[in-house]
Amino acid sequence: MGDAIEYRLQTAVDARRDDLVALCRDLIRIPTLNPPGLNYREICGYLAERLARSGFGVELVRAEGTPADSSKHPRWNIIARHEGARPGECVHFNSHHDVVEIGHGWSVDPFEGVMKDGRIYGRGACDMKGGLAASVIAAEAFIATCPNYTGAVEISATADEESGGYGGVAHLAEKGYFDPSRVQHVIIPEPLNKDRICLGHRGVWWAEIETKGRIAHGSMPFLGDSAIRHMGAVLEEIEQTLYPLLATKHTAMPVVPEGARQSTLNINSIHGGEPEQEPGYTGLPAPCVADRCRIILDRRFLIEEDVTEVKREVTALLERVKAQRPSFQYEIRDLFEVQPTMTERDAPVVKTVAEAIEKVLAKQPAYVVSPGTYDQKHIDRIGRLKNCIAYGPGILDLAHQPDEWVGIDDMLDSAKVMALTLAELLTG
Ligand SMILES: [Zn+2]
Repeated sequence: MGDAIEYRLQTAVDARRDDLVALCRDLIRIPTLNPPGLNYREICGYLAERLARSGFGVELVRAEGTPADSSKHPRWNIIARHEGARPGECVHFNSHHDVVEIGHGWSVDPFEGVMKDGRIYGRGACDMKGGLAASVIAAEAFIATCPNYTGAVEISATADEESGGYGGVAHLAEKGYFDPSRVQHVIIPEPLNKDRICLGHRGVWWAEIETKGRIAHGSMPFLGDSAIRHMGAVLEEIEQTLYPLLATKHTAMPVVPEGARQSTLNINSIHGGEPEQEPGYTGLPAPCVADRCRIILDRRFLIEEDVTEVKREVTALLERVKAQRPSFQYEIRDLFEVQPTMTERDAPVVKTVAEAIEKVLAKQPAYVVSPGTYDQKHIDRIGRLKNCIAYGPGILDLAHQPDEWVGIDDMLDSAKVMALTLAELLTG
């Protein structure tokens, strides 16, 4: 690719600055909250109209039969494809269109797309409507600048990433949309910062542990058996033995932030005894010994670890508690499991994006691995495509926070990197 093309591509992206801002704000204004999965059809329709205007063939796919799909909350996805002048490789940008709940602590309307000091604020601004908007602008700028390119450009916006991706990328991968015969390069514009390439992610195992007891009157607890006290013993054992063990397990994966370069465990929730009452209930609780207590574990593991060993550590811990507490009974249920994945540094998409970052930002990219999983897991495992990275604008730490924002210049820079990547891969 010559300097002249690079210059024209960057100019073409700069010329679309207002368009990029408007697109990002429009996307934020469609509140695609997940759960439950609101306005998926609306956002797909909006993108379909825009991309059809830019010459893409568009397809809307509903992930019928996937976990959260219902007639009230259908899981809609859009895949748009633009064909070049002759057949060749396909570069695919995949963004999730869903956003998480807003939570508390916002100083602006989370669905207004407020623009202030070179930033756009809103739920999903950085995770990841800013990245989606940047990829659309990059593709449109590339197609306008290099209309005779070889191959194809695809853009997808998919559902449910925040809840596992089964109604989104997993479904499309199962339908063959990420088959290596159809798509050769995948970039997921998650907010990993414009100068970093994310090669993959750690593994996950979620499990529910339930301790069992016997209900009795709270004034005579000795007649019952408290599942909460049993769970207290489990939590104590986790503190005393499991956390210290996890702190000794380190990875060679370049995970960011650095605190995640070891095995980690979060206890997502705890529930014991009486179910919580509806908000607004003003009565007192009933005095009962808890006969059930449940926690949900969120264990993140390393590429160096084996998932069977990860599970064995927890069952061994429960057996240790059992040995010390005569009436202790438990159940453990697997909820969710994802293997760690990491794309090779010399994979074509990694090398090409790295060169484009050097050209646009005049610096070497950093290579990172995400502490949490994202849709790469489905592209890797179901789609069997290994040439996949996450690259996009926005600061990862802002994701899911109040006053989430994305920088306009960051979106523009990463759109330039994406446009140069397209030119390198498709005009060779
Ligand atoms: Zn995301």
